[in-house]
Amino acid sequence: MNYRGRFAPSPTGHLHFGSLVAAVGSWLCARHAGGAWLLRVEDIDPPREMPGSAESILAALPAFGLAADQPALFQSQRHAAYEAAFEQLKAAGMVFPCWCSRNDLAGGLHLDGQCLAAPADGREPAWRLRVPDIEVCFVDALQGPQNQNLRLSAGDFVIRRVEGYYAYQLACVVDDAFQGITEVVRGNDLLDSTPRQIFLQRCLKLPTPTYLHLPLALDGEGRKLSKSERAHPVDPTDPLPALRRALDFLDLPVSSTARDPAGLLAHALDHFTPDRLPHCSERAAA
Ligand code: GLU
Repeated sequence: MNYRGRFAPSPTGHLHFGSLVAAVGSWLCARHAGGAWLLRVEDIDPPREMPGSAESILAALPAFGLAADQPALFQSQRHAAYEAAFEQLKAAGMVFPCWCSRNDLAGGLHLDGQCLAAPADGREPAWRLRVPDIEVCFVDALQGPQNQNLRLSAGDFVIRRVEGYYAYQLACVVDDAFQGITEVVRGNDLLDSTPRQIFLQRCLKLPTPTYLHLPLALDGEGRKLSKSERAHPVDPTDPLPALRRALDFLDLPVSSTARDPAGLLAHALDHFTPDRLPHCSERAAA
């Protein structure tokens, strides 16, 4: 099987160090396997998006030597595919409409397999997946064996929101299959989403890729570097310092002689095997 990897940023800000690490890690795994590296812009949550962010991220990647093999897929163009998947789940009786508010759930999970709140005055429902009491197990290539009781961890999770937007979990699964992704390499903050995605793949009869979750980059105070919390963007006009830091963060050799991003990446790739990556869940960004 030909390896196909991807980098799937949400356009909520400029490319920052944490997302550069995910981009570099997924690029190295794909190139090491002689496979393709694809891009996907996860623009399905308009209220969280920052205007210009998608363009800014897509323009920054080549400046860091990270060229994709195909034009980026935009999730905002994929509504029909998510709808088809949703209809498939609906026809199989796997989803139910839900009018519960956050208050109704009091911060807890939805566990009933049906909505107990009376449908109110024409309000649109969210749609939840009916989640049985099962353990989802998989072996992460870096984080090792994982085991999650889906019902206790996620409950009946939302796959279509009240506003009609499809949830990340559904869109991600539909698009990983559509793009033929064989391995998902991303930050460890998404490790606990993976069982939900594997379960959705089973419900939709889609293949399950392998998973590799990179250590999460933390700031000086031990918080996740997140684009939406205005983490410092990396500077595509001066790519070498951030790229060196990203390689160093991933315990990869940093060439002292390379003069451009392509040279730095080529040197790292020469010495790269996925099992050289750090087997930890998080670490401070230097
Ligand atoms: N869009 C997500 C993010 O930017 C990543 C999703 C994924 O890699 O599955 O954090």
